[in-house]
Amino acid sequence: MAKVMAKKVAKKVAFFGLGNMGGPMAANLVKAGFEVCAFDLVPASVEKAAADGCSAATSEKDAVAGADFVVTMLPNGAIAEALYIDGAGLLDLVESSAVLIDCSTVAASSSRRIGAEAKQRNIRAIDAPVSGGVAGAAAGTLAFMCGGEAADVEAAKEVLKHMGANIFHAGPSGAGQVAKACNNMLLAVHMIGTAEALQLGVNNGLDPKTLSEIMLKSSGCNWSLEKYNPYPGVMEGVPASRNYSGGFMVKLMQKDLGLAMEAALASKSATPMGALASNLYNLYANTGDKDNSDLDFSSIQRFFGDTP
Ligand code: NAD
Repeated sequence: MAKVMAKKVAKKVAFFGLGNMGGPMAANLVKAGFEVCAFDLVPASVEKAAADGCSAATSEKDAVAGADFVVTMLPNGAIAEALYIDGAGLLDLVESSAVLIDCSTVAASSSRRIGAEAKQRNIRAIDAPVSGGVAGAAAGTLAFMCGGEAADVEAAKEVLKHMGANIFHAGPSGAGQVAKACNNMLLAVHMIGTAEALQLGVNNGLDPKTLSEIMLKSSGCNWSLEKYNPYPGVMEGVPASRNYSGGFMVKLMQKDLGLAMEAALASKSATPMGALASNLYNLYANTGDKDNSDLDFSSIQRFFGDTP
């Protein structure tokens, strides 16, 4: 009797939010062999996703029909809560076996609400905000900070491993968002400190490159100095070397610092450095004759003095 070979059926991912981050993330899932059904409110984003091999969904309901996984990469928590609960109501449309993964950066309280509403319906859902930016999304090297049940994070890895290089389980629902807020608050603090120290040296006659070399081998060494030097002309290939274009925009750092301040308020935590960093970025973004909010966040260097 002839052997009948079973044809491997691709698993289906419903992907919502095909913007700067979601677009390349969805493209990586197509490359990994998933059937990706894309939904976005902007037709151009869906067309781009279709060119990358996704199929275009006509509605939220159409996107999740038969989906094994749902991935969302949305601008903020209000939009995420509307999509999952109050508006389109994905939680009432998805297959009961689907794993829901919200990669958007939102307040921990939003993620906890989505997680609790999903649990009431016996649906698996995790928060999985990312670090690594647009370059990491394109290269498939993002870091995912997950919050939710350990078994659900494990199940989500089947999809996450094709979009990222590191997947962390931070704790219960919302914990991924807390980890992300802590990390980006610290990033803002050491970026500002690095810019301030470099300007102090320059103002006192030092070459910023020489000063950077000294601090890299001394106790002031940190990620901003080592990988993302904010002073123009010191390091090649970073936003400071191309007029602070590309990279991680000031407005996104403002958003993340706002979320860190929300988490601090909710937990009655003292975050004096984070609060100062948040205020400095708000001041830098919105004062002066120029709008700096679309520049890379390392351009905070200009707050301390004129740069070449
Ligand atoms: P973006 O604005 O480029 O993309 C968001 C997309 O979501 C848009 O295409 C928009 O049309 C779509 N959208 C909005 N409402 C929708 C809905 N109801 N249904 C379907 N689609 C909808 O933003 P981005 O830069 O891709 O960022 C997405 C998320 O990732 C944000 O939460 C951001 O904070 C986070 N993030 C961004 C970066 C970065 O460097 N850009 C880095 C880390 C994390």
